[in-house]
Amino acid sequence: MPITFYSKPEALEYIRQQQEDGHLSKLEHLGGSKYQVTLLGTIKDYEASAKGLYRPESGEIVLPHHASTRIRLHELGHKKYEHETGILKMSKLAEQEIEAESFAYEKMGKPVDYRVAIPAIALLVGIFEKTEDEALDIIGEVLKQKEIQFTNVEREKLEHFMDELREK
Ligand SMILES: [Zn+2]
Repeated sequence: MPITFYSKPEALEYIRQQQEDGHLSKLEHLGGSKYQVTLLGTIKDYEASAKGLYRPESGEIVLPHHASTRIRLHELGHKKYEHETGILKMSKLAEQEIEAESFAYEKMGKPVDYRVAIPAIALLVGIFEKTEDEALDIIGEVLKQKEIQFTNVEREKLEHFMDELREK
């Protein structure tokens, strides 16, 4: 159940406390000084569902035994760019995922195109409960900043990918 706060610092403090207790949460601005915090799963649940994880506090990369080369390189990308966790904006989260995945693509000699947004979509839609359109808007901005082509064609291809993801 979402909790409403009447100042941003109070909402952020609550999120920080929840993080210490191992819970992920999301913050929404309801207008004026009103903010809403919704608790998502626990960080443990996220770790169990993630294909790999980079922990900036310790510099440690956690990988399942049979992680693919792409996943290993992706986590290495997070480490190389010294990505952060904590309270991050969705656009920052998406940017970090896109950077890590681009790193993996480059190392594998694959062309860096719209597909580097796939882990970011999985995170925004799967964990942070963004709608497809919200996620694609956020991701589109990041791809454009990185000068990765993102027209309606690429948008449709990513929408198609999300449909497939949901059917699984
Ligand atoms: Zn990642």
